[in-house]
Order: sequence, then structure tokens, then C-alpha cells
Amino acid sequence: MTISNYNFAGKKAIVRVDFNVPLDENGHITDDTRIRGALPTLKHILAQGGALIIMSHMGKPKGKVNPKMSLSQIADAVAAALGAPVQFAPDCAKAQKQAAALKPGEVLLLENLRFYPEEEGKPVGIDKEDPAYDEAKKAMKASQKEFAKTLASYADCYVNDAFGTAHRKHASTAVIADYFDADNKMLGFLMEKEVEAVDNILSNIKHPFTAIMGGSKVSTKIGIIENLMDKVDNLILCGGMTYTFAKAQGGHIGNSICEDDKLELALDIIAQAKAKGVNLVLGTDCVAGDAFSNDAHQQVCPANNVPEGWEGMDAGPDSREAFAAAIRGAKTILWNGPAGVFEFDNFTAGSRAIAEAIAEATDNGAYSLIGGGDSVACINKFGLADRVSYISTGGGALLEAIEGKVLPGVAAIKG
Ligand code: AMP
Repeated sequence: MTISNYNFAGKKAIVRVDFNVPLDENGHITDDTRIRGALPTLKHILAQGGALIIMSHMGKPKGKVNPKMSLSQIADAVAAALGAPVQFAPDCAKAQKQAAALKPGEVLLLENLRFYPEEEGKPVGIDKEDPAYDEAKKAMKASQKEFAKTLASYADCYVNDAFGTAHRKHASTAVIADYFDADNKMLGFLMEKEVEAVDNILSNIKHPFTAIMGGSKVSTKIGIIENLMDKVDNLILCGGMTYTFAKAQGGHIGNSICEDDKLELALDIIAQAKAKGVNLVLGTDCVAGDAFSNDAHQQVCPANNVPEGWEGMDAGPDSREAFAAAIRGAKTILWNGPAGVFEFDNFTAGSRAIAEAIAEATDNGAYSLIGGGDSVACINKFGLADRVSYISTGGGALLEAIEGKVLPGVAAIKG
């Protein structure tokens, strides 16, 4: 079923959202992006005359009640965003009566799902090495099903709009779907957009396809790099991983960040790109600093010849030009991870060059997807967010999807 085709009139919908919003020490929301992200789905259901049971996690309470992570703190903000009063269920597993009493147009927000260990389904208080662990895990999986069944009993249909947790097989993100037939479970609008975005860069690709992978380490990106190797025309590897590649090829990198146990891997990636005809673009020059600070002295040097006492902290001018050239002509673009220590204003040039080239290519008709916390922060910092095709809300979920892994939250609905 799809959310656009379903008739919510007179129905109770239990909707998994990601309301894991950051709070300050007084429990005030500091960034409400995630709440705004779920509004199209929530408002659509209310407008059709449905009743809403909203569920989410917040933080990592590890299966215990923790008032600092209570969703009661955000109930008023949710009500304001929806323009409708919000009732609160202080125990998400004992909300039968409140759910049963809901009338069309009414909203019930359940307490943090992760106050119950059943939500994540991991046994608590027992070590993985303990001989009794397997038994405990089995028992927990059984009670996770019961927990999911209880949540399902509140509603007529289930909507998953929490892309941020779609890579987790939790009670509310996946197990619950077993208790609804195919006609009564669906992805929310946000999830639909995220799934479509991933599809655009994994299957529905328009060539040339340029992927830009940056950030600090090659080790955390290797799954994606390998999955993309068969799909991309240009692969830009930038940021801190530049120096692992430079060292692997015999370069001198001074104090630059480097994963010494990934030198072989770097050579292997270079060989794979060559064998597959992928244009691998590595930084040739860099902006080095004499300290890891915004105020460090700077010099431009070859990425494979960084003087002792200096470290490569941003892409140099030649590299920036090479990156931009590989991006400008592209029809599909994926960007994950900055090209330098963009948090320091004096080391943003590489990331800015990438962001600007992506905006230009998008203006010329390319499809561009930006994902992963830091590249999203970059595009926002440079004020170019409205000149790219799509900015993903999912960190880990997006990365796993691009690695080619099936997301349990999506599979539970789409099969
Ligand atoms: P990741 O979480 O792996 O995507 O890495 C993001 C982080 O990589 C950001 O905080 C950047 O500051 C950092 N980064 C990018 N380039 C460099 C570099 N040349 N040296 C050190 N850190 C870097």
C-alpha cells in the first residue's frame, strides 16, 4: 500500500517517526528539523480524518525509564507544529485505553519506545561472552514480538516515516509490520522520498555519475566505495583519506591523518578503479597547517609531499579544480563527507568548491544527493541547500542503503 492511495478516514494510524531531536539542558528543542520532516505524513493523515498514534525513540536510554529522554518534553512543540492538541501516553506499552478512545483528528504521542529494552530487542545486563547470552537473546526476541504486537493493537494501519532508524530491525521499525496485512502498512512521505533518492543513485542512474567521498577515514566508507565502483564514472576521494592514499603510493604526508592499516586497501581501490575504467580523482595538492586549528599557518604543498610538522587539512587549488571539473559535467551526483576540516573557516575551500560545482551541475539538470551529517552541514554552511536535488535526513541508514544493504524498515513494508 502507498500513503497516497490509502484512505485514512475513520482509521487509527500508528506512525513511527524520528523525533530524536536535540534538546538543551532545559529540555528545549534546539533543532526541530526532524519534527518538520514528518509533518507532511502526519498532517495528511489528520486532514483525511484519521487519528494519529505517534511513536518515536529519543536518545539512548538503554531500556530504562529516563526522564531526561522523555518525549513529554516535546509534546507541546509537536502540537504547535501540527496545529492540533496532542495527548500523551506516559507508558508506550500501556496505552490501550487512550488509543481506543481516540477520535478522528485526535493525536496521541507515546512515551519513548526505548524505555523498553524490547524496542531494540537486545538483552540487557548480560555480556555477549556469557554462556547464557544466546538464551537471553532468544527470550528477548520473543518479548520483542509481544511488545510490537501490543503497539500494533492500538491501530488499524502502520506507517513508517522514520528513515533515520530504517537500518535497524527494531520493534517499531520492522517487527510491528508483521501484525498488519500488506493493505494496511506503508511508508510515509519522507521515507518514500529517501527511498526514491537512493534508487536514483543506485539503479535509476543518468551518466556521467560522479560520487564524492570525503571525511576523515577510508575505513568507514569502504563499503560504499566498493558498491559504487561498478556504477560511477568519476570517483572523487578527498578529505582525510587523501593521505592514506598518498602514503600507500610512497608519499610523505607529515602529520596528516592516516590509517596505516589501510594502505593495502588504498592500493586495492586504485587497482579496482583502473580495472573497471573508473576515473579516480585523488587530491594532488593540499592546504597544510602547522597545527590542527583554524588559526594555524597555512601553505599549499603536494598531497604526497607534506613537510614534517605540517598536516594536510584541505584540498589545494589544483585538486579543487580537478574535483569541480569531474562534478560540473555530471548528470548524477552523490556527495558524502567533506574535503577538508570544514569546521574551521580557514579550511573550507575544498568543500566549498565541491558544493558550488554540485549546485552548478544541478542548475544544469543533474540529480544531486547529499547525505551524511557533515556534508549536509557543509551545504548548509555555504547556503547552497536549495540548489541541490535532495538532502537526505538519514545518516547510518543512508550509508547502509548506498552500500547496497536492504534496510529492515523498508523491507518490512515492501517485502
Ligand atoms: P566522517 O565522519 O568520516 O565523514 O568525517 C568527517 C570529518 O572529517 C569532519 O569532521 C572533518 O573535519 C574531517 N576531515 C576532513 N578532512 C580532514 C583532514 N584532511 N584532516 C583531518 N580531518 C579531516
